[in-house]
Amino acid sequence: MTTPEDPTPVPDPDPPVFQPYLYYKVTARDDTETCVNYLKIFTIEQCYSNNGTNVRVFCAKCRHDMRLMTAELLDPQPEVS
Ligand SMILES: [Zn+2]
Repeated sequence: MTTPEDPTPVPDPDPPVFQPYLYYKVTARDDTETCVNYLKIFTIEQCYSNNGTNVRVFCAKCRHDMRLMTAELLDPQPEVS
């Protein structure tokens, strides 16, 4: 049960769905309270989706996983040599 006095947290977005083996433009938020980047949103211009289920973005400061907010399929896909 929750009480009316509870602060209403901002709901976390549903995690983005990735197709495997493609590049996405991803935004991610640092959810580590002790980090200087806490609640900052970062954009990753080229994020590879790996097998589609193991997409992770790390904070350069605290090294924790960041929460993925959005993912936009790159079209065209970047050429990778
Ligand atoms: Zn951090």
